Amino acid sequence: MTTATDVIALETDHLLQVYRRGRVVFERGRGCRLFDADGRAYLDLISGVGVASLGHANPKLAEAISAQARELLHTSNLYFHPLQGELATRLAALSGMPRSFFCNSGAEAVEACLKFARKFWHAQEGTPRRSGFVALEHSFHGRTMGSLSVTWDDHYRAPFAPLVPDVQFVPMDDPKALKTAVSSATAAVIVEPLQGEGGVRPLSREMADAITTACRETGALLIADEVQSGLGRTGVPFYSSVLGLTPDLMALGKALGAGVPIGAALFTDRVAAAAAPGDHGSTYGGNLLACRAALTFLEELIDRDLVGHVAKVGGHLEKGLRAIKQRRPAVREIRGAGLMWGLDLDRPALPVVDAALQRGLLVNRTAETVVRLLPSYVITPAEIDEALVLLEQAIVAATESGS
Ligand SMILES: *Cc1c(COP(=O)(O)O)cnc(C)c1O
Repeated sequence: MTTATDVIALETDHLLQVYRRGRVVFERGRGCRLFDADGRAYLDLISGVGVASLGHANPKLAEAISAQARELLHTSNLYFHPLQGELATRLAALSGMPRSFFCNSGAEAVEACLKFARKFWHAQEGTPRRSGFVALEHSFHGRTMGSLSVTWDDHYRAPFAPLVPDVQFVPMDDPKALKTAVSSATAAVIVEPLQGEGGVRPLSREMADAITTACRETGALLIADEVQSGLGRTGVPFYSSVLGLTPDLMALGKALGAGVPIGAALFTDRVAAAAAPGDHGSTYGGNLLACRAALTFLEELIDRDLVGHVAKVGGHLEKGLRAIKQRRPAVREIRGAGLMWGLDLDRPALPVVDAALQRGLLVNRTAETVVRLLPSYVITPAEIDEALVLLEQAIVAATESGS
């Protein structure tokens, strides 16, 4: 029998060492629970970084993807299959953005947005080329060279320099700096309406208005990176709409495949008109397996109103988190919406994350001091109550013991 120690030793010897994993080996899941190799249960409030949107081992998803596997999994983009058009139609109905490109990750979706923002301007006859991007401080857009170039944190960037040139970063609460940065040389402004990896930071309405104004006045395109905040995560289909943002391009990922890798870049007709056959592509992108998973997710989200459930239980979670903040001075601030929350601590968050793991609760740390929660959309109020108790115990254990 392979033990957890064997699994970890094998990885240590043979995998590129780029992950700092919690020392637990998961074998099975059900809903919001994960089970390790010894059968110990964990309450999962991170859901594979916001990916397992329908919960683990969701029976409808399992049935849909196994039925699809028995029919056809992959044909490449050399030919047609019935599911890409169907998925794009559903995404258009939800987002108001009529055209989709399917890929395999959030970073690839961002990459497609950056490329077609550039292509849009290259296709405008008689105008000087516009190639610059304006991004916000604390942004995270992915780890490919392009998406990394608009990612703010130097920890991610520095090892791989030089990156794509002509990117300017602006503080996320400085409308004047934004106005100065966006010019007639800017191809696009890229924003996460609610930043995730950067510490769960919502954009202010004032900043969103400044972005809208700057884009209107200069013609710069707006890319909304809704990879984490989109598709019901915040209790509404897209967080852009909460801020009154109307993007020209949108990046999606994470929750979309409910565990099967798929990303999508969405376009207005005006931007999509610049695309030509051969411009871009993906071998796997939008294959039948990924599209079937995404269609199953959207059926649950919209037809069965999972987005309404997220809004409701999200309110319950927020109340519980605010109560914890009242009682625990180490918690400086609670930020987020729906089922996307960060607890900003007055100290490093990792000891809280470790203490939670010891108690059978899965959360993660982001931006050094923030404990992040991204539970599955199917979480119940009873599971939230259970998680809140464990989380508060972990905060107490990590911040108040010995003091
Ligand atoms: C996770 C994330 C990405 C990158 O997605 P991958 O699937 O890891 O490539 C991009 N943008 C945002 C906002 C994200 O949260």
